[in-house]
Amino acid sequence: MVTGGVGQGDSYGGYRGQLVEVLRRKGIRDLAVLRAVQMVPRHLFVPESVRHRAYDDVALPIGSGQTISQPFVQARYLELIGLTGKEKVLEIGTGSGYQTALLALLASMVFSVERVPHLAQQAKGALAAAGIRNVTVLVGDGTLGWRPFAPYDAILVSAASPDVPAPLIEQLATGGRMVIPLGDRETQTLTLVERGDLGIRTSTIGDVRFVPLLGEFGFSNG
Ligand code: SAH
Repeated sequence: MVTGGVGQGDSYGGYRGQLVEVLRRKGIRDLAVLRAVQMVPRHLFVPESVRHRAYDDVALPIGSGQTISQPFVQARYLELIGLTGKEKVLEIGTGSGYQTALLALLASMVFSVERVPHLAQQAKGALAAAGIRNVTVLVGDGTLGWRPFAPYDAILVSAASPDVPAPLIEQLATGGRMVIPLGDRETQTLTLVERGDLGIRTSTIGDVRFVPLLGEFGFSNG
C-alpha cells in the first residue's frame, strides 16, 4: 500500500534512481519492485557512519553484529514472492527494517519479527520516519512464526536456516509462497517454498550468504 510522500522530497532521490538502474542492469525486471526501491529512503535505515553508502548495491553493518542485506538480493526476494498488493505478509528478521519498508509498499499488511529488541526499536523508528504505517514490528523468536495473525500469503525469511522451520510451513496459506535461505552458517541456497492444494513444493534459486537464524527451529545460539 503506498502511503503518500514516501521517499519524496529528500535530496537522495537521484541516488535512488541510480540504484534502480544498477538493479535493472543486474536483471531485476519487476516494475513494482523497482518502483518500491525508487520510493523507500534507504538512508534512513542505515547507521549514520555508513549513510554515504546507503545507495550502493552492497550489504552494510547495522549494529548488534547484523547487516542490512544487499539491495539486489532483496529485490530478487521480492520478485520471487510476486506480490500483488493484497497480501498479508510475515517477515522473519526485521534487521534495519528496509526490506520491511519495501514489503509495505508491495503488500497490504506486513508483520515483521526481530529477535534483537534494540534492532526492532530502531527499525520502528526508521519506518515511522519513512511514513510507513501498514507494518507491525514484533520482538520474538521468528522460527516460531507469529500464530495470532496466521495464515500468511507470503513469508520472507532474511536469515539462514538449516531447515524450513515447521511452524512457518504451518502458517503459510494455501497458494502462499515463502522464500528462505537454507544451508549451514557459511553458505546457503535461496529456496522457494510454495503451498499448493496438493501440498508443499520447493525449488532452489541460487547461492546466497545470510547471518544465521537463531532460535528454537533455527541454529542454536552458541
Ligand atoms: N532484511 C534485513 C536483514 C536482516 S539480517 C534488512 O533489510 O535489514 C537478519 C536479521 O534476522 C537480524 O536482524 C537478526 O537479528 C534477525 N534474526 C535472527 N534470528 C532470528 C529469529 N529467530 N527471529 C527473528 N529475527 C531473527
